[in-house]
Amino acid sequence: MHDITLILGDGIGPEVMLAAKKVIDATGVKINWNVIDTDSKRNEGLELLDYLVANIKDTRIALKGPIKTPVGKGYRSINVGLRQKLNLYANIRPIKSFKGIDNLHQNVDLIIVRENTEDLYAGIEHMVGEDAAESIKIITRKASERICKFAFDLAKSQGRKKVTLVHKANIMKLSDGLFLDCGVKYAGIYRDIEFEDVIVDAMSMKLVQYPQDYDIIVTSNLYGDILSDLSAGIIGGLGLAPGANIGDDIAVFEAVHGTAPDIAGKNIANPTSAILSGAMMLKHIGENSAAIKIEKALTNTFKDDNNRTMDLGGNLGTEQFTQSILENIR
Ligand code: NAD
Repeated sequence: MHDITLILGDGIGPEVMLAAKKVIDATGVKINWNVIDTDSKRNEGLELLDYLVANIKDTRIALKGPIKTPVGKGYRSINVGLRQKLNLYANIRPIKSFKGIDNLHQNVDLIIVRENTEDLYAGIEHMVGEDAAESIKIITRKASERICKFAFDLAKSQGRKKVTLVHKANIMKLSDGLFLDCGVKYAGIYRDIEFEDVIVDAMSMKLVQYPQDYDIIVTSNLYGDILSDLSAGIIGGLGLAPGANIGDDIAVFEAVHGTAPDIAGKNIANPTSAILSGAMMLKHIGENSAAIKIEKALTNTFKDDNNRTMDLGGNLGTEQFTQSILENIR
């Protein structure tokens, strides 16, 4: 029996997370779920952050729905706060195309490894007088070495051939230069894995044109966030992009997407990213065969052109689509 915290989240969160729970339960894995309905919690901001941190520390593993963040004012992101407070330093975002989905590219299979604790996300900002603002970009050797080593270890454990480090060290010579130095250091240690570095603007173009050229991409927090949405767009959208936040002894699994307020509560969200995040979680806790069952069920579900949610040009609702996956699991 595994103890797992399930955070439903805001917007489409409850719809896609309950779909993921149903699919995971259908594999037969025994889970004692600690379900947290964030939507119904009155206290936002810091109080919610502390409550979630305490619950996740208890089970060590969480499957998390997206949580909204006010734009331009108000409390800081709970999502970023969780990663920082729980020291979930590696954000892993696999981007893999499904056969049969109408997308920009087929045969894409890359993983973005994003540094998750610092960079401009450190949240150090202040006004300089009334008409200027400063955000401070923090890059440390400790966090950069840790994430670069993580990327090479991941390449090794998954039998992948190449690590591409993405930066802007031509302009930010000190901060991004330090990050690049750390990648070069580990490239020298893991000599059997090919290494290259690419400047982030060029990388954006290359990813759109030739995503099949990439294997593992390691980068800092902000570039990683942007490139993962861009890469999701290449394979059919945010409905298909799962993710994991990994620390030394705690892991939180969550889709790349946010709360999607434009489609929330309409039973039209694509639950695939949440379900695939669940499969990543199952692998992490040693339930490989259950994870593979889910991945195969999704592949089989997508073989039928009628099995598409709205974002993929179909007309199945979240619940109907989940039902098709459940039938494929059985
Ligand atoms: P978003 O990812 O919520 O949505 C972007 C677009 O993608 C929208 O058009 C949406 O409808 C679509 N989309 C996203 N997920 C989908 C799915 N599963 N199925 C079908 N379509 C989907 O990004 P946003 O609108 O910029 O952000 C909304 C809120 O989410 C903000 O408050 C933001 O701070 C928050 N957010 C949270 C997280 C997180 O919890 N980790 C991540 C990103 C954004």
